[in-house]
Amino acid sequence: MINGNSSSIQEEAVRTDSNIITVNNVEGQTRNTIIMQTASIEEKVLPTTKLYLEKKYQDCKHTVKTEVELPVEMVNMTKEEMEENYPDWTIKEFSKDEIVLYRLANGLCNEHFVISDENGVVVVYRLDEDYNKSLYEKTDIYTEYLPSQDINRLKEGIYVYTVSDLNSELENLE
Ligand SMILES: [Zn+2]
Repeated sequence: MINGNSSSIQEEAVRTDSNIITVNNVEGQTRNTIIMQTASIEEKVLPTTKLYLEKKYQDCKHTVKTEVELPVEMVNMTKEEMEENYPDWTIKEFSKDEIVLYRLANGLCNEHFVISDENGVVVVYRLDEDYNKSLYEKTDIYTEYLPSQDINRLKEGIYVYTVSDLNSELENLE
């Protein structure tokens, strides 16, 4: 009898669109029960899902988020399958619109620059995550016309973070 009641209540719950259903208990009293969505539709990666990689660099503590092309093999994966296939990443966000994968990275992010004097000309190097320098920009600023204070700073190397800081530092030298 009681079992029969509860199964009819469940059927009723399936039929209703609302999260709140009215349940008549054994004593005939009425109470409202909130039904949790237990069988929510499992979300999967779509070909149109945007994929972002977020890396926090341990030396500079900067976090860089970049959008990357969604790998074909990722399409149709569930969150659990993503966790299995990409164990190095933490899934920070997972929806059909957007996925954000997060991990810690070594060294520096890619927005660190050093401005220095090379044969009398101001040049800019970009530092990679292992602090290796690669030529970023050769300016037309000649160091011989600069104040001695700037010349000394250039000998040491002027370290800047972000392209906008780099540009304002170069403007100061011009
Ligand atoms: Zn950084």
